[in-house]
Amino acid sequence: MKVFKFTAVALLMAAQFVSAQFKQTPLPYAYNALEGSVDAQTMEIHYTKHAAGYVNNLNKAIAGTPLEKESLEKILSHISKESTTIRNNAGGHYNHELFWTMLTAEKNTQPSDKLTKAINETFESLDNFKKEISKAGADRFGSGWAWLVVTPQKKLVITSTANQDNSLMDIAEVKGTPILGIDVWEHAYYLKYQNKGADYLSAIWNVLNWKEVSKRYESAVK
Ligand code: MN
Repeated sequence: MKVFKFTAVALLMAAQFVSAQFKQTPLPYAYNALEGSVDAQTMEIHYTKHAAGYVNNLNKAIAGTPLEKESLEKILSHISKESTTIRNNAGGHYNHELFWTMLTAEKNTQPSDKLTKAINETFESLDNFKKEISKAGADRFGSGWAWLVVTPQKKLVITSTANQDNSLMDIAEVKGTPILGIDVWEHAYYLKYQNKGADYLSAIWNVLNWKEVSKRYESAVK
């Protein structure tokens, strides 16, 4: 009996292990590292509750299906054929994994020379770029994201998506590689900023990880 129980538990654990295909990358800084721009409580709830929810629900939804063997990018590329649950949670997992790397406690990181040149050519100046992407975020009605995307033609484009959609999805209006993403869901800022989403969008630049955005840009235009 004891042996049976042990076997059953072991099998159950093994089954959970197999189906838990995707997981969260540890946050690369402390919850309170971005205080002043993003408060510790928001970071903790965002990472341990909201983002954890997306990956858990994604793993549940794909358990026992062929999607278990696919990469997240691959799943997003044919998302129009999948359920809304998979669309929301696969997008949610991808977007948040990217978002944590968009932020840093390191002060005054700067876009690389190559990215600066592309931003100046496309948006006139870095300040104007910030204004335009913040506007894309502020104009997003309801929950969603503001993005800087490298298109298949290697051009920079600002876009925004609803819910947890992104430009890797086959249903996206603007397709390409997201290199900068700003979460404009209320859960990303409400505890500190309440209805003042514009203040969140202006404070985010103090903790933006331009090194990471530049790295993503350079790999997307290769
Ligand atoms: Mn979020």
